[in-house]
Amino acid sequence: MRHIAIVGSGPAGYYTAEAAQKQFGDGVRVDIFDLLPVPYGLIRTGVAPDHQSIKAVSRRYEKTALSDNVRFVGNVAVGTDVTIPELRELYDAVVLATGAPKDRPMDIPGAELANVFGSAAFVGWYNGHPEFADLDPDLSGHSAVVIGMGNVALDVARILAKTPREFEGSDIVGHALEALKASSIQRIVILGRRGPHQIMMTPKELGELGELERAAPHVDPRDLPEQAEDAILEPGLRKSVNLVRAFAAIPEHIRAEKRIAIEFDFCAQPVALIGRDKVEAIEVERTEVVAGRAKGTGETYHIPASLVVSCIGYRTTPIPDVPFDERAGRFANDEGRILPGLYCVGWARRGPSGTIGTNKPDGFSVAGKIQEDIDNGALGPGTKAGRPGFDALAQARGLEVVTFRDWKKIEEAEEKAARDGAPREKFVDIEAMIRARR
Ligand code: NAP
Repeated sequence: MRHIAIVGSGPAGYYTAEAAQKQFGDGVRVDIFDLLPVPYGLIRTGVAPDHQSIKAVSRRYEKTALSDNVRFVGNVAVGTDVTIPELRELYDAVVLATGAPKDRPMDIPGAELANVFGSAAFVGWYNGHPEFADLDPDLSGHSAVVIGMGNVALDVARILAKTPREFEGSDIVGHALEALKASSIQRIVILGRRGPHQIMMTPKELGELGELERAAPHVDPRDLPEQAEDAILEPGLRKSVNLVRAFAAIPEHIRAEKRIAIEFDFCAQPVALIGRDKVEAIEVERTEVVAGRAKGTGETYHIPASLVVSCIGYRTTPIPDVPFDERAGRFANDEGRILPGLYCVGWARRGPSGTIGTNKPDGFSVAGKIQEDIDNGALGPGTKAGRPGFDALAQARGLEVVTFRDWKKIEEAEEKAARDGAPREKFVDIEAMIRARR
């Protein structure tokens, strides 16, 4: 029997469990650890609450979770409650699927001002992540700036712009819905340090900005490259650029009917955040794109900003005893191998890019590497203690482990508490989750 510990119960974790089942059949036991008492990681706290169809993938993970040889081990902090050397002692393979839950820091003066947030915190706030539930952003000002031109920036801009009616059927948490209902934001500027041809936004997500009840996208036609230049773009990006062109063509009188303007500011690089205690404006430098890179022109200007959310990417949280690549912000690894018997997968391996589905081949790839390492003798004879060993350790330490059956009780309580038409009202603090399972 082989024992595998997967750390992190998001998409990368569950696809790895599924791959391990396919690879090793009945000859494997998989324990999936999570810091939170609830599973699914990014699906629960990262994917936008109004994208329920994307969240539905968790049903596939539930199928894996309910199989006999896979177990959810929630409410356990790997690195402190149990260390990596301890897990490596107990399991044949330890796979880190911890994602990239921390914001890439915005390295400019003023980043510490109040009402400046990274997207991990801001998205965590409206998605009910216990770490960020108390963020309490001030939405009483008129003007928000969202930094970055990726899909997370789109999520943040869209959530800031939606009406309460547009949140029907979503699982946005109550505290965020109430705050957004009272929001005074009328202008949302999305800042991109490069041009329309370098956006990271995908067509479906970008298209949603054109269909909002009280908000319209604003693009200055003068920012667009010659249409003929679109021919060199790969098809997905060309579709996105077509949408940007369509936004630029929206007649002024149509845009004026909407209360909220979502303005695209291209070739605009943040230089500093300005304010006394709280942010009031952002200083931006105009850039030009030279050989694909943003190059400052020296021309600067200010944009009023009562709220700033930087959506410029994420970093993996280091874990004691695991080699870390500081520059890349993820575990140091060679195609998923970190140390003998220690692997990583998903964003913890390759950084924060790709869709949820990208994690599927990743999971299968790491299962293949584990098989290779078993075959070449690197993982020993298969006599590790596995589950019973961890259970003894958890008991000795008094850890309050949350099982998948416990999670189903928490889920039931969240579903019962849902607003009309909503799938659930999430618990936003760990104690409340633990109480619900009791
Ligand atoms: P992303 O796609 O990498 O976009 C990051 C953006 O931040 C880029 O526009 C980048 O500009 C900009 N940026 C980076 N550093 C910057 C700096 N120092 N100053 C100014 N701008 C900076 O990342 P993301 O939006 O966080 O998304 C992460 C992954 O999740 C992506 O693969 C995304 O597609 C996926 N996702 C998907 C969905 C969905 O499918 N619905 C939703 C959310 C996220 P440069 O290009 O110039 O570096």
